[in-house]
Amino acid sequence: KQQYNGKNVLVLGLAKSGEAAAKLLHRLGASVTINDAKPYGDNSQAQKLEALGMTVICGHHPLELLDQDLDFIVKNPGIPYHNPIVNEAITRGIPVVTEIELAAAITQAEIVAITGSNGKTTTTTLIFEMLKNSKREPLVAGNIGTVACEVAEKATENNVIVLEVSSFQLLGTEKFAPKVSVFLNLFDAHLDYHGTRSDYQDAKARVTVNQTDSEYLVYNADDTDVSNVAKVSKANLIPFSTRKKVDKGLYVENNVIFFDGQPIIGLEKIVLPGKHNIENVLAAIGASLIMGAEIAQIQHVLQTFTGVEHRLQFVKELDGRRFYNDSKATNILASQKALEAFNQPTILLAGGLDRGNEFDELKASLSHVKVLITFGETKDKLTRVATEAGVKTIIPVENMEEAVSLAYEQSLPGDVVLLSPACASWDQYKTFEERGKRFVEAVESLSV
Ligand code: ADP
Repeated sequence: KQQYNGKNVLVLGLAKSGEAAAKLLHRLGASVTINDAKPYGDNSQAQKLEALGMTVICGHHPLELLDQDLDFIVKNPGIPYHNPIVNEAITRGIPVVTEIELAAAITQAEIVAITGSNGKTTTTTLIFEMLKNSKREPLVAGNIGTVACEVAEKATENNVIVLEVSSFQLLGTEKFAPKVSVFLNLFDAHLDYHGTRSDYQDAKARVTVNQTDSEYLVYNADDTDVSNVAKVSKANLIPFSTRKKVDKGLYVENNVIFFDGQPIIGLEKIVLPGKHNIENVLAAIGASLIMGAEIAQIQHVLQTFTGVEHRLQFVKELDGRRFYNDSKATNILASQKALEAFNQPTILLAGGLDRGNEFDELKASLSHVKVLITFGETKDKLTRVATEAGVKTIIPVENMEEAVSLAYEQSLPGDVVLLSPACASWDQYKTFEERGKRFVEAVESLSV
């Protein structure tokens, strides 16, 4: 922690993580300048930090800020590298890091870092739950909630920090070397920010580039890009696969999950639906076992964990119908995954903000959908696609309560009722969380 005493640091962009980083560096004796795009008059956050003794410049990003003798810059992950001040800083050789670099540098706890295009929050939560009741108390941090450097400062060596990290955060790392890194998958995402797919892959690879043979990389052996990153990693490799038996790793054989030859749990006991979740489960078992989790706790978590809220979350079974809340599915790909998770007859609740999609990609996933209940701006488009896919019953509705009560009426014991809208929620709701909550409340108030 002494390493920051007397350092001259510029914090670019506030939000939650910038504020936490600024306060931390200030406490550790650094001289902190804050530069935030929001004008000073409206920026109560900046004013608060100024009152603590930091220099604050708001409203624009003047390049002259770089003329002071800066030791490094802490950049908010949301600010792109093509922003002129970031670009200029890099040209001048000033190190630009994100707050996870600080977190890793100051903490006494070991870190398990989870990255990938999809499944991060689910896997992070699973690892956190699996490490409960083990010798070291887990703390959860990163994208999922509490800012990493805040958690890192308080953590002791008796803690394990389970850290969800995005590619944006990983780009700003220099020495970041978690005890265990988990690399789930790599889809084309965020190409607007990263430029090319290979830049995106390089960003994600930073989760392992500084690891050595005293550290571990748990990685998806079924994903070619992820495997290519693993090939050049110096960490101990722990592959996982849903398709084949892997040496010194996690795999499925006869519907049982194994870790290096040892049976862990039968697939039928796992509450989380969907093949994609089996990948998350394999990764979580690998990471938590390395960190000392008990097998009994792992089994307990997998038999009781119903999913992260709004992500294909099991809500309840009512009169033989199983209700799932996948309100987080704000795009077609996510709803495809959700639909693929079931082979039972399904009542699908979908629709929302119109972003100009035609939804034709969804057709192939609708074969087991017997009823579509649709709402929001996209209901006509979804009606067309479902008709062409041969869905027998299609009912447009105005609100969630109507949708849920119709879904119950239209369903039979053994059916699945799935809210997976394939659209953002902003035409009818403030957030996808609010939409999911309305669904869950409507389900809870159904009476048989
Ligand atoms: P993230 O935090 O990376 O956004 P989440 O755990 O919140 O991931 O899951 C978001 C959505 O991504 C899920 O609803 C599901 O549709 C999809 N998903 C989750 N895990 C995987 C996976 N391993 N592979 C592919 N898609 C996944």
